[in-house]
Amino acid sequence: MRLVSILLIFLTYSGYAQYKCATDEITRKHANINEAYARGLEQMDSLASQFESGLMSQSERTAKKIIIPVVVHVVYRNEEDNIGMEQIHSQIDVLNRDFNWQQEDKYKIPELWRDLGAASGFEFRLADRDPDGNFTNGVTRKQTDIEDIANVDNVGGAIQYYNSAKGGTDPWYQPHYLNIWVCEIGDRVLGYTYLPSANEVEPNDGIVIEPRAFGTTGRAAAPYTGGRTLVHEMGHYFGLRHLWGDEEGQCTNTDYMDDTPWQAEPNFKCSSFPSKSCPSEPDGDMFMNFMDYADDTCSLLFTKNQIEYMQLVIRTAKVTLIHSEAVTGVSELGNQGVHIFPNPSSGVFQIIRSNPAEMDFFIYNSIGDQILTGKTTEPQLSIDLTKHAPGIYFFKSEQGSESLVLQNK
Ligand SMILES: [Zn+2]
Repeated sequence: MRLVSILLIFLTYSGYAQYKCATDEITRKHANINEAYARGLEQMDSLASQFESGLMSQSERTAKKIIIPVVVHVVYRNEEDNIGMEQIHSQIDVLNRDFNWQQEDKYKIPELWRDLGAASGFEFRLADRDPDGNFTNGVTRKQTDIEDIANVDNVGGAIQYYNSAKGGTDPWYQPHYLNIWVCEIGDRVLGYTYLPSANEVEPNDGIVIEPRAFGTTGRAAAPYTGGRTLVHEMGHYFGLRHLWGDEEGQCTNTDYMDDTPWQAEPNFKCSSFPSKSCPSEPDGDMFMNFMDYADDTCSLLFTKNQIEYMQLVIRTAKVTLIHSEAVTGVSELGNQGVHIFPNPSSGVFQIIRSNPAEMDFFIYNSIGDQILTGKTTEPQLSIDLTKHAPGIYFFKSEQGSESLVLQNK
């Protein structure tokens, strides 16, 4: 008897711990109170059906490099959740890797599905211009005293992570910025987003994620240290559904993708092949797909159709992101005639100056300690950080500042 009750407690607990994405719930909730959003969702459903039935021409399915400007709003209650730039950069790196089929762990995908991987051509970059055209590092910070500010129950009420008057941070103009709020959600939800609507963007458009499931370092906590919670949410942001469709329990809910098997239930942790939830599928579930619920170490794949569908969505419902001027590639320093390259570097950064005036400069590490300082009148100099640990550093001078990314050698 005692054994039974211990077992029950364990099962209940692990069921909770594994509830990771509230996208379906939040999307449904918002559609119920907002008719225009709901109509736009239906339009996206018919776009997805057309896609699934092969009505898109080949030219509409071609990959091109697309730069996606990102702003990260850190809304923290405890100082430890005021996450550092290193954690933010580590997350951007994971997105760029996994969206471009460069993940080194793809060998873990069962062989019969490994050929389905593809590169999207999406390149996620922190914005270098804010909505007023000023230089930015693509990150905002705000302290709040509200616990679990992005709790699913708060959405639309008196507390709103996306409203500065209600404790959160206002979004940057969503047609031009992909907004990510890193804040407490609570209730064991790790993240959520709103599925795209063909209608005008909503004030809450964007992705919400817990600091402990964001990036690969800093506050990221096991088993969420692979940055793949955001890869999953990013899939939703560009229109992808869970593999079981928008409701669990049946083998007939579509995810609109022809190259993913029918699936009735999520897979958690690390399943082994074959993991079957629908009798009609001889090979079982594609449990290592990013749109399932596997742990970060076992979440590995967007299929070709998923990639093509996201490319279609960015050229339709999210097309304004492509025409954004939020990423110019010109830094504050560059604008003042100071150029740093290569950046990232594995040790030595070159600085080229077109301005002959004497320049004082300072280099700080990610916790704000000054590690180097200098003065120059030369048009070119090199800064050697070989002896320092890989990570994010900051160059500061009167002409401006810039992040330096020091990579592993
Ligand atoms: Zn999800």
